[in-house]
Amino acid sequence: MNSLIELLAKHKAEVSAAVVNDAASLEQFRIQYLGTKGLVKSLMGEMKNVLPEDKKEAGRLLNEFKLFVENQFQLLLEQYGSESNSKGSKSDDIDLSLPGVELPLGSRHPISIIRDRMVEIFERLGFRVAEGPEIEDDWHNFTALNLPEHHPARDMQDTFYISQQPDWLLRTHTSSVQIREMQKGQLPLRIICPGRVYRNETISARAHCFFHQVEGLYIAENVSFADLKQTLYHFVKEMFGEQAKIRFRPSYFPFTEPSAEMDISCLICEGKGCSVCKRTGWVEILGCGMVHPQVLENCGIDSTKYSGFAFGMGIERITMLMYQVKDLRLFSENDVRFLKQFTLA
Ligand SMILES: [Zn+2]
Repeated sequence: MNSLIELLAKHKAEVSAAVVNDAASLEQFRIQYLGTKGLVKSLMGEMKNVLPEDKKEAGRLLNEFKLFVENQFQLLLEQYGSESNSKGSKSDDIDLSLPGVELPLGSRHPISIIRDRMVEIFERLGFRVAEGPEIEDDWHNFTALNLPEHHPARDMQDTFYISQQPDWLLRTHTSSVQIREMQKGQLPLRIICPGRVYRNETISARAHCFFHQVEGLYIAENVSFADLKQTLYHFVKEMFGEQAKIRFRPSYFPFTEPSAEMDISCLICEGKGCSVCKRTGWVEILGCGMVHPQVLENCGIDSTKYSGFAFGMGIERITMLMYQVKDLRLFSENDVRFLKQFTLA
């Protein structure tokens, strides 16, 4: 026991005499005495060799030594620890009149900017925002929308399934939100559904495994295709300006009948033809149509009394068009050089 007391006294003297005069030597001190392979740890390790009757006293002495070293380190830390940051200057030398470190302010993501503008336009027309889960079941995402199993149109919307729950998937469109809202049965219904959707696509400049949509739905008595056209016509003028022209092309979607795709005149070449519009002067921006009576019936709505229209568009597509972004991947790469260009719109 006496040898331990002597040994610790010797170490105490050594710790007290340790030369610390900057952050580097302080770190050296910490490693030498308090590190995982330092003196305190190794002395503690010696406890197993102490005779059982001496263990209690030895433990007390070692703990006392440990506290001594820790205190010593704390004192040195207050003296030298903070100095490494101010490069050797004393704390009372700080010039408080110097300008501070500027914190970079973030900016709105271009997808958010465009989404908010779109939502705002439809809100002024009386649409309200509806949201739903990104993990959906097969019925809400496909079957209720007239896309029964083995329907070929499902191939174009291959997505990600959850292996433990084969009925669950990542939604391929926000139409599933429309289904959920229709099921509530509160008519008339006038909603807009912005949100993230997923597809099993190879990632490229023009396709990604996730993107964003804004879909709209209006169901009431006597809703006609003329209402659909007028609503979208108003949207295009508000979004792209008075000079934008629109055209409808017949199309096919299982959940609308009749269905159409809508183009706007190319914003870049104003219809003269450029690489963005592939020399046609037109750019496709959305799909739309009158809600298929079967879809209404699937949600418990009387299709002889009610009718409605629906439309859907990709936010990325429109953002790329508005800001002339050529690569879809830029939106999700978190490159600040790209993102900071979109302060406000
Ligand atoms: Zn063009």
